[in-house]
Formats: sequence, structure tokens, C-alpha cells
Amino acid sequence: MATLTQQQLNNLAKTFDDRTPDELLRWAFQTFGSRLAALSAMQQSGSIVAHMISRLKLDIPVLFVDTGVMFQETLETRDRIAKEYGVRVRTLSPSLTMSQQTEKYGVLYLSVEGQKECCHMRKVEPLLAVKGQFDAFIGSLRRADGGRRGDCPILALDMEMNTVRINPLANFTDEQLEAYLAEYPVIVNPLHHQGYSTIGCNRCTTPVLPGEPKRAGRWRHLGPWSQYCGINPTDVDQGSTTGIELSQDLVDRILGQKTDFMI
Ligand code: SF4
Repeated sequence: MATLTQQQLNNLAKTFDDRTPDELLRWAFQTFGSRLAALSAMQQSGSIVAHMISRLKLDIPVLFVDTGVMFQETLETRDRIAKEYGVRVRTLSPSLTMSQQTEKYGVLYLSVEGQKECCHMRKVEPLLAVKGQFDAFIGSLRRADGGRRGDCPILALDMEMNTVRINPLANFTDEQLEAYLAEYPVIVNPLHHQGYSTIGCNRCTTPVLPGEPKRAGRWRHLGPWSQYCGINPTDVDQGSTTGIELSQDLVDRILGQKTDFMI
């Protein structure tokens, strides 16, 4: 085994800054193969990534965490993407239903501390259940979404999952996103057309007013203290990140020492 550090990834990411999402997705598939998956909450940018995977004919599964309290529109978007794009969508679920969780712990999402616990049980733990099956996850974070995502990296370490996180849309501007939607028949969660700029669980997501920040509709009932769920490690402090452990061969491939594929 070998250690891959955030510093090594930062150096590599500098050379990726002017690469297109298509090029980054091809690099990811070439590098990680069957140990790669995309994560999607079935929001607009996740649907674009799924569409790109389908258009490029890359055999990359899409993982969707169903917290059990998703909007019906979100579940229908997932089903349409699986059927119409022909991508493999795998649904991950928490161990307790929301009713069972509420019976055991109370209504957690009504307090700031409870929200963290609830998101951990319903979003993070289902992902942790597949730890070891993948070496890299593709996300759909964009810097244009602002907040903590204003400087989200193209490549990051996920210490908890021991994986690399790849954000091929990190540099995708709002204009590029609109242009992509105009050019391709992307399946977009219909809630985006009903005032929801971002979409999560039905308990904790509302539409936003014109002029409000994009994430104002997330955990609105908790005030400005809770804005992220922790499923994206780049949303939280990287702290004293040292590195993750991968095979030497894979680390060499990631860092470009063993590759016949140049993007
Ligand atoms: S978004 Fe709300 S309901 Fe969903 S997991 Fe987090 S706290 Fe629970």
C-alpha cells in the first residue's frame, strides 16, 4: 500500500484546472475503472454528470442515498435517469426508517445538534456501508454555487471513506451549465422549476425567494447555523489531513507515473 496525500492531489489538480468535465470523467474512468462511482442526490448538476457519463458511454455506476424522506420528484428523477440514460443507479438506504429513528431518538432535524446526527445516520452512514468497494467518487460540486463550495477542489481526499473525491464540474460556470442544458435533453428534477435551487430531504428543504442565496432553502427552520450535511467532505474542514491508503499501482496511476492515457 502507498499513501496519497492532499498535497500530491493539489499539485495534480493544478494541471487539471483548464480540463473540461468530459476530459476529467475520462481520466477518472481510465484511472479508477470499476473502483469508481458517481454520487448523486438527483439535483441538476448531478443529473448533468449522469448525462455526461451516459453520453461518453462510461460504465460508471451512480450511487443515490435515499434518506427515506426524499421528495417524490427526486425519486422519479432517479428512476428516469436509470431508465432513459441507461446508467446503473444503485440506491443506498439508512438502517432505520424515519419512523423507527424518530421513535428511538425523537425528531432530530428540529435542532442544530440533532440535524448533524440525523444527517449522519441517514446520509453519511449509508455511504460508509459501501466503504472498501470504491477508490474514488465523482461528485457534482460547483464553485459557482458559492458558500463553502466557492473554492471546492477538483480533486480531494475523503479520509473517512479512504477515497479520492473528483468534482469534474468544479469550474463549470452558471453560463456553461445553462448552455449544457440548452444543448442536451438533461433530465432535471422538476422541483428546480418550482423555486427549489437545491434539493435535499423533504423535511429540511424549502424553495428560495428571488435574491436569496442558493442554499437559503436548506434547513431554513434552523437559521443560518446548518447549511451542509457532511456527505461531501470538502464542505467541512479538512483539518490535519495526512493521506489515504491505496495500492502503490493505483497511486502511480493517479499521479501519472503509469499511464498511457493523456488528457
Ligand atoms: S436533511 Fe434533515 S431529514 Fe434529511 S437527513 Fe439531514 S436532518 Fe435528517
